[in-house]
Amino acid sequence: MSHWTRRPTVVVNVGGVEIGGENPIVVQSMTNTDTSDVMGTVAQVSALAEAGSELVRVTVNNEAAARAVPEIVARLSDEGTDVPIIGDFHYNGHLLLTKFTECAEALAKYRINPGNVGTKHRDSNFQKIIQVAIEYATPVRIGVNWGSLDQRLLTELMDENALLPDPNDARVVLLDAMVQSATRSALLAEETGLGHDMIVLSAKISEVPDLVEVYRVLADQGDYPLHLGLTEAGMGTKGIVATTAGITPLLIDGIGDTIRVSLTPEPGGDRTEEVRVARQILQSLKIRSFEPQVTACPGCGRTTSSLFQEMAQDIETYIREKMPVWRRDYPGVEDLTVAVMGCIVNGPGESKQADLGISLPGTAEDPRAPVYMDGEHHSTLQGEGMVDEFKEILEKYVQTRYG
Ligand code: SF4
Repeated sequence: MSHWTRRPTVVVNVGGVEIGGENPIVVQSMTNTDTSDVMGTVAQVSALAEAGSELVRVTVNNEAAARAVPEIVARLSDEGTDVPIIGDFHYNGHLLLTKFTECAEALAKYRINPGNVGTKHRDSNFQKIIQVAIEYATPVRIGVNWGSLDQRLLTELMDENALLPDPNDARVVLLDAMVQSATRSALLAEETGLGHDMIVLSAKISEVPDLVEVYRVLADQGDYPLHLGLTEAGMGTKGIVATTAGITPLLIDGIGDTIRVSLTPEPGGDRTEEVRVARQILQSLKIRSFEPQVTACPGCGRTTSSLFQEMAQDIETYIREKMPVWRRDYPGVEDLTVAVMGCIVNGPGESKQADLGISLPGTAEDPRAPVYMDGEHHSTLQGEGMVDEFKEILEKYVQTRYG
C-alpha cells in the first residue's frame, strides 16, 4: 500500500513475524505489568494482541520475571494468543539468560541495551547474551536509548571531538554516539557469530528533530531492519502528536520496519491505546490498512445541534463493533471509507470521495441528509430514524462490495 520506497533491509524472523524487507511494518507494544505476575501479564499481552499488537515485549528484570516467562508464553499459547514475546533486558541480561534457560528458549527476541550491559565487562556481558541468542537461534534488537547511552563510548567520542581543531557541538557528538553504539554492537554481535539477519537496531530519543536525524544516519549505516519509536513520548495528546511527528517523516523516507508508540497511560489507563495510535499512524499514511476509516468534519457554527457529533460517534462505534465479524466474512473491508459530514458546505463533496457518505443538514438547512455511494447520490434520509437507516445502508454496502 505504501506510496514510498522502503529502505532495503534484510528480513529478521521474530517467532514467525517477519521484520524488514518488503514485509508490512510491524506494530509492537510493551506491557507495564510486573512480569512475575503471570496472570496479570498474560491478560495484558492478550489485550495488546487483541488490539492489534503483532509483537509484545515484557521486561525481564529479575529472577522472578525470568522464571515467569515460560509460563506466560505457555498460557498465551494455551488460550490461542500466538503473539511472539520479546524479553527486555538491562544490566543483568547475561546472568538471567544463562541461568534461566527455559526463559531464553521461550522468548522470540531479546532486546539488549548496549548502554546497560556493564562498563568494565561491557563487551563480554554483551557477548554472553549474543551466545545465548546463537544457541537458541533467537534474534536480538540492539536498542540504544539516549537516557542510558554507553558512557564509555560517549566519553571516548567526546575526548576525540575535543581534540579536533573545530570541535562539534556536544549534541552532534551525542547523536553520533547513539549511532555508533548501535552499529559497533551489531558488528560485535556478528563477530561473536550471530547471523546478520538476526539483528534489529533502534536508537530512541525523546526529542523529535533528534530522532529524525539519528535514524536517518542509522539508516545509511547498513541494512539492518530498524525499530522506530520516540522514547518517553509522554501522556495523551503530547505523546501521540510527538510520536507521530517523529515517526512520520522517517516512514515517508522509507525508514522503519517496526514501530512502537511509547505512551504513558493515565493511572489505571488502557495500555492498548499505544497499539491503536501505532496502527492509526500507519493507516493515515496509507502504509497499512487495519479498519474502515470514518472521515468527519470538525463541525462549526453551522452544526449547532449535537446530532452530527452523535452520529459520527455512533457510526464509528458501529463499525468497531462490527469489525470482528466483518473482518472474518468480508475480506478487504478494512479499506472501506465512510464520511459523516456536518453541512452542505463540504458535506456532499467529501461524501462523494468516500465509499459511503452522508451529508447531514447544518443549522437552518432543509432537514434532509443525502447519502452518497461510490461517488453517486444514493438516497436522502430524514427524521429520527436517520442513523439506523444509514447503518442499514452501510451493512448492505459491506455485504455487497466485500461479500
Ligand atoms: S462541513 Fe459544514 S459543518 Fe462541517 S466544518 Fe465544514 S462548514 Fe462546518
